[in-house]
Amino acid sequence: MHYKLTQEIIKLSESDYWHSAKNEWNFEYAYYSDELQRCLCGHYPIKNICVIKNTINNRHTEVGNCCVNKFLGIDEGNKIFTSIKRLKEDPTKSMSPEVLEYLFNKKVLTDFEYKFYLDTIRKRKFSYKQLEIRKKINQKLIDFTSYESNSNFSRINLVLKWAEENTWFDTSFVHSLKQNCERRGKLTENQSKALENIIKKLKIE
Ligand SMILES: [Zn+2]
Repeated sequence: MHYKLTQEIIKLSESDYWHSAKNEWNFEYAYYSDELQRCLCGHYPIKNICVIKNTINNRHTEVGNCCVNKFLGIDEGNKIFTSIKRLKEDPTKSMSPEVLEYLFNKKVLTDFEYKFYLDTIRKRKFSYKQLEIRKKINQKLIDFTSYESNSNFSRINLVLKWAEENTWFDTSFVHSLKQNCERRGKLTENQSKALENIIKKLKIE
């Protein structure tokens, strides 16, 4: 399995040698898949998935969290999946500060939400209203790391990548969908349909 993973990563990298190819990759996103997926190494099924990005050629690929950690030395996913598990069991608990930082950097949280969470991260006793805010922010992590929002991101990125070569296409609507998806962790049904129509109509693959 190790051999298969290194071969697949090398294929997507600029370098032909594993020891330098693996350094081309950075962590980008983590998501929890409800649908069973296969890791690049061949392992099946996996549910904790990391999207990694090649810093030289900008390619993206998805690898099981376990492999990303073990073979690429990327450990951001671990913290995210630990927080997801904890919050799914008890939505009144808190995510780790690193995960909060991750959400803020991905523009999922407003300045107010970020500051509120940071100030109250170790707090156990909340007013009703404060607890509702914490739960709402926790839900943002669950939504942002869901399979649904990840598939929206990959469809949006597909269109934006296509638009790089087809410069006549106005991307402002697709960019607004992306922003929406970052803020809310999902698209509305109408937005999702509109995106699907663009992909179909322009025959983007
Ligand atoms: Zn694997």
